[in-house]
Amino acid sequence: MSKILIRGAKVLGGEAQDVLIDGETIAEVGQNLSADGASVIEAGGQVLLPGLVDLHTHLREPGREDSETVLTGTRAAACGGYTAVFAMANTFPVADTAGVVEQVWRLGKESGYCDVQPIGAVTVGLEGKQLAELGAMHDSAARVTVFSDDGKCVDDAVIMRRALEYVKAFGGVVAQHAQEPRLTEGAQMNEGVVSAELGLGGWPAVAEESVIARDVLLAEHVGSRVHICHLSTAGSVEIVRWAKSRGIDVTAEVTPHHLLLTDELVRSYNAVYKVNPPLRTERDVLALREALADGTIDIVATDHAPHPQEDKDCEWAAAAMGMVGLETALSVVQQTMVETGLLDWAGVAERMSFAPARIGALENHGRPVSAGEPANLTLVDTSYRGVVDPAHFASRSRNTPYEGRELPGRVTHTFLRGRATVVDGKLA
Ligand SMILES: [Zn+2]
Repeated sequence: MSKILIRGAKVLGGEAQDVLIDGETIAEVGQNLSADGASVIEAGGQVLLPGLVDLHTHLREPGREDSETVLTGTRAAACGGYTAVFAMANTFPVADTAGVVEQVWRLGKESGYCDVQPIGAVTVGLEGKQLAELGAMHDSAARVTVFSDDGKCVDDAVIMRRALEYVKAFGGVVAQHAQEPRLTEGAQMNEGVVSAELGLGGWPAVAEESVIARDVLLAEHVGSRVHICHLSTAGSVEIVRWAKSRGIDVTAEVTPHHLLLTDELVRSYNAVYKVNPPLRTERDVLALREALADGTIDIVATDHAPHPQEDKDCEWAAAAMGMVGLETALSVVQQTMVETGLLDWAGVAERMSFAPARIGALENHGRPVSAGEPANLTLVDTSYRGVVDPAHFASRSRNTPYEGRELPGRVTHTFLRGRATVVDGKLA
């Protein structure tokens, strides 16, 4: 059994304390702990958070190992301070059977950098026509509790209703990618002033908002639980706020990029800014930040969407949608939420660890930093300032919108069950 003493860390941004890790567990938290028999990490006032949990990661394996694998994706996650990620189901083959979710779950176990909890597809082949084997996926070794056709919307109201009814039986949740398909046919970016000027097909806010409105009402009708992926508009915030005030069991996520970037960037025609849902307006960004601060939006989820260079290095219309996000998420949250005074570090821990673990029913993550808990921890140097260089990413892909941008904060250490996966900012 190895002991590690983290000395002088601000636990959740509070008073500096020592944290003693013994084996896989936090043994003690307090002042002036004995370093006897332990290797010492001088935290020097860095912030110690519970290991981050991402409810929305695309690991691409099986099928698109040219953009990411479970191994490279979990390495990227560890570098970003994550100890658990939920792997989206839009792989090839689709994760719509017990066999495929167990394959992803097993690959995650072998990776060793980060726990991987597979998400199961809602419908067979993500085709929106027939419910997938939700019960079999839940009963499998992977114990799936979150189901999503992410990338596509479950747009058939009857299928959505049945999925909500089905998961209710075992306390599962349906995570909806809210996008009315007919309203977004041929859409290339947010519908608004910029799309009109550029002459690009627009993606109206109402395409997202109308599906969210329908689904919170369906969840209420069925008495089930719905989670809304990547909220991107001010109107979506209003609907979720209304639904929560009514007691509807809805949770929602926002991505780091929707907290920082706007559709003005599309004027560059750089396809790195092409993403689904699209970058919106400054007004939307401010509404999303406010909603994350006041709890209307429960969590930050990355929607880490790796793509190989050739799928982005082409004209706007042909380029793939999505951005990598695991290795920059915490920095973007520090800049947009902490340094603006909207959230403290305890608030960040809630939205990037405690709440996502609760929503996904993950038992050993999102736990308090206290004695007896699993030692899943992230140490962050919040005073660091650095320019993002994707050449240093652990991800197999480089499609970041932050290249060359200065962002604050750096994960110096990540611990998964007491084992360091990242040391001094580098993979261990
Ligand atoms: Zn999505």
